[in-house]
Amino acid sequence: MSDVISESVSNQDSTPSCAECKAQGRPVPRKTVLLMLKPHLLEQAMTGSYSFCSSSDCPVVYFEEQSDRRFAIEDLRVRVGVKAKTDPIPLCYCFGFDESHLREEISETGTTTVLDRISELIREGLCACESRNPSGACCLGEVNRTLKRIVGRRSLLQ
Ligand SMILES: [Zn+2]
Repeated sequence: MSDVISESVSNQDSTPSCAECKAQGRPVPRKTVLLMLKPHLLEQAMTGSYSFCSSSDCPVVYFEEQSDRRFAIEDLRVRVGVKAKTDPIPLCYCFGFDESHLREEISETGTTTVLDRISELIREGLCACESRNPSGACCLGEVNRTLKRIVGRRSLLQ
């Protein structure tokens, strides 16, 4: 076990890129990968260090840095929000907010409380992004990006 840990630590300063789309990946804990994969694939991810590909048009979700092993959208048991084109598009996996919650609230009230509600829960230490979010990272970045996109689109329409 200690070998596995030191291996993944030593790989962290490299910036691996996705073999499919060549975009730079983000290191993701192997535990996160295992929590997302369908059961028949678990054994394939028992070793190695993985990165997450966040390109919206790339089917690859996880790729292994030292091999050609990779896992695509259909290999996961959760929907990957950044790669989903139709509702539900998950934004916050810990508390279940998806893009439609933002869209509906903004079209009804012109603003949204989602960001504040999530931030508050995160401040209280109640989130579980590493276990719930396929990227293994905090969801606030993605919520923010989506919010800007929705608001930007609205102001273009008005
Ligand atoms: Zn990719």
